[in-house]
Amino acid sequence: MAFEFDADAMFKQCALYLSKGLVLVRVHGIYPDGRCTCGRPDHAIGRSGERNVGKHPVGDDWGNRCATTEDHILEWLEDGIPFNVGCRLGPDGGVIDSEDDSVEARNYRKSIGMDGLETPTWTSGKSTHQLTKWDDRLADCKGTDTPGGLEVRIGAGNKAIQSVLPPSWHRTGVQYQWKPGFGIDEVDVAETPRPLLVALSNGAGRGAMRPTEGPASAMLFGEIPDGKRHRAILRWTWYKIVNQRNPLDRLQQEILTREVMLLSQHNCTPAADPDHVRQIIADCYEHYRRKVESGWRVGDEDFSDDSVVNEVTQIEQAAAADTAPKRPAAGSGFELYGLKKVVTSKTEAYEPGDWRIEMIHSDPPEIVLCVPAWEMTPCKGRIHMSLDTFRSAPKVAAAVFNATRLYILDGDAGKWQKIWKGHDACKGNGFKSIPGLMELLLQRKREEDDIEVGTSSLRYAQLAGYVLQVFRKATQPRNEENPEPNESGRPCWVAPEELWFQWGKIWEDISRSHDVAPGERNRIRSKLTEAMGCKDFVHRRHRFQSGRLEYVVFTKEWVEALEALAAGAGNNWTVKGDADGG
Ligand SMILES: [Zn+2]
Repeated sequence: MAFEFDADAMFKQCALYLSKGLVLVRVHGIYPDGRCTCGRPDHAIGRSGERNVGKHPVGDDWGNRCATTEDHILEWLEDGIPFNVGCRLGPDGGVIDSEDDSVEARNYRKSIGMDGLETPTWTSGKSTHQLTKWDDRLADCKGTDTPGGLEVRIGAGNKAIQSVLPPSWHRTGVQYQWKPGFGIDEVDVAETPRPLLVALSNGAGRGAMRPTEGPASAMLFGEIPDGKRHRAILRWTWYKIVNQRNPLDRLQQEILTREVMLLSQHNCTPAADPDHVRQIIADCYEHYRRKVESGWRVGDEDFSDDSVVNEVTQIEQAAAADTAPKRPAAGSGFELYGLKKVVTSKTEAYEPGDWRIEMIHSDPPEIVLCVPAWEMTPCKGRIHMSLDTFRSAPKVAAAVFNATRLYILDGDAGKWQKIWKGHDACKGNGFKSIPGLMELLLQRKREEDDIEVGTSSLRYAQLAGYVLQVFRKATQPRNEENPEPNESGRPCWVAPEELWFQWGKIWEDISRSHDVAPGERNRIRSKLTEAMGCKDFVHRRHRFQSGRLEYVVFTKEWVEALEALAAGAGNNWTVKGDADGG
């Protein structure tokens, strides 16, 4: 029956909420005949105040009388009057509530990727609520806000705010309910997603309440405290970019990056995290690039503080909406790749910064160049190379381009040569030689970064991984009626269980991006045939118009043997890092 108050169920739920740290509020309940327990005549189903029935807290100073222990709940139960339960929001409650009450709000929630968020979620009437953590960055917000139509009960400001929770009764005659799988006993309260935080903080600017930010150049003249750092760096970077004649020029980018990095070390307390600053700079350049591509050109109005604030807000929103990890744009310069620029008298050199290497003591030995800024590329920021490659600036640049398919280090080959190999002693640098990245990386390498490979099984795993990567690109036959392998020799699923390819072609493709020593492909071949208990691969021929070609045909079993090899089956060694990367 609608509006039936179940004291036991209510107590159990409240105890659960308290155990999760929620601060509870006694909210007026609904008598079985549809009246609100507050007693106001209009607060009843079918009367003018129907919307308020069972929704408002008991007592005007309820904010000072919240429940934090089970004893409080037992007190509530003493008078026998039905009640609903709510939770305190804002800094005192530790949570905020986002409710979608419209299609617009649901679409907005989806657009910021919040619809699938794993966080306690419940329904009331026709809408869905999500509970997420309070964030101190919301301190300047109002009590509630509605970005994109989403009703967010923030609970900032001085006014106490609450949201009604299950198993309370809704005036429509249904109980509030946890969404299956998203109950507060099933999932933890998630952090409030960044896009929503940004939208809410920007909302704080509507109206006259927002304190003025001062000119963008404030960053130059005073210390920037913790809470203002991100925005100050962002504004200064954008301001500098629009004030340059040719901001996308590589040298200009390098200079600006350096300036902003220095300034953010110097004038921020505490100093800004370099990765974070690089990301801000990259976001600004990305925004600039997009604007230019869409036909926009800098005009006088772009230099105003208002315009800077406006653009910066857009950059923040774009960055917040794009939650996928990012990578620096190609050609954005060595500092954005994580190197640290050092200028000694007349020469320009770089220190490893975020770059490091790992040495794999296998047969043959390998070096892995690890560049966090390139994690979002096919090699996941790990570039495998032979020692020979490592010793050569052009070969390193080639390996990097092959592995990342994006970053060209030797656009200026002479400069890269010096950055990698160092400068010889000469008059220009005071007759002192300057070490290159190659030496510095080796010096900085820690022994624990070395990977010992007893029987070169790591190498087999790696090679098998390379083959699998090529297999993943296997095609389907063009003509289903008359399935044919690829004349190129590249892998093709000619039948559902038959992968046709030419062994030589596979390795031709692999060696375009990886160093493979002579004889290694034969070792993989014998490892595989050994695992399958066969003398050799299974070969088949196919007649094309141009003639007959021979193929290796792998069944599922062969592919599985390869996968096992790639996973390092049957060998005792530990993989450090990603054996199938690079
Ligand atoms: Zn009432």
